[in-house]
Amino acid sequence: MKIIDNIKELKEEINKLKGSIGLVPTMGALHDGHLSLIKKSVMQNENTIVSIFVNPIQFGVNEDLDKYPRQLKQDASLCEKEGVNIIFAPKVSEMYSCEKNNLTLICPPYEVVDKLCGKSRPGHFDGVCSVVAKLFNLTKATRAYFGQKDAQQLFIVKKMVKDLNFDIEIVPCPIVREEDNLALSSRNQYLTENDRKLALNISKALFNIKKLFKEGISDIKVLIDASLKIMDGLDVEYIEFVDKNTFDFQTKVDRNTLVLIAARVPESKTRLIDNIDIWE
Ligand code: AMP
Repeated sequence: MKIIDNIKELKEEINKLKGSIGLVPTMGALHDGHLSLIKKSVMQNENTIVSIFVNPIQFGVNEDLDKYPRQLKQDASLCEKEGVNIIFAPKVSEMYSCEKNNLTLICPPYEVVDKLCGKSRPGHFDGVCSVVAKLFNLTKATRAYFGQKDAQQLFIVKKMVKDLNFDIEIVPCPIVREEDNLALSSRNQYLTENDRKLALNISKALFNIKKLFKEGISDIKVLIDASLKIMDGLDVEYIEFVDKNTFDFQTKVDRNTLVLIAARVPESKTRLIDNIDIWE
């Protein structure tokens, strides 16, 4: 496995590869969620590239860019075990030669970013799409692997690929959870013991919605009220019901419903997101 930090060497190595290339874009601090994407890529492709880059242009000014966990050595040994061919871990200056306001960016339309995570994180998805597009170009990947955990991101990346005719297949991967159903996230490292206990109520609320729906309750207000009770003590940013194919808000639950939650825990103020497909 090669660990590459510059574009010149990346291009040289990519030109030597034979067969399909799977790309797994990450910000590092790898956990079993990331590893599920990597395993899938290794299974489906002759070559797998994992990018590890804490992308500054997708962070807002008051967000956790500086404290985001960076643990390349540990990440590299996990990737090596999975059979990854290349880790691409560039410095910020290698990816961006100027400030965000001077860069050519890919900006998804207002309609898809002015809701859910995009609403509280203005510019976030411009940063995501721009870095993902650069990684697609640099790696010449055949397939790229994204987690359903970041459902709005997955939806927006798929739309970008379609709208801009990128010649790449986007492979969605299911959410990996701890035994108690907490969705794995690099940001879980920030959680205090008490935060972690409270954070569990996010997945509890989601699984409860699914259970209630199966019992015949499809009134969104009833489902939201039940969820907010479960999430008492959390600062809930949103709980929304969308059609998973369009990301349009719904007024009634049906088999296409995806329920999404973003909430902050009280002590570390960590912002967590999770979602559930009501029908799966
Ligand atoms: P990140 O490093 O947080 O930017 O995540 C990199 C990729 O891993 C994204 O496509 C995420 O959706 C995916 N991912 C993160 N956590 C999970 C999880 N618990 N289950 C599945 N995929 C995940």
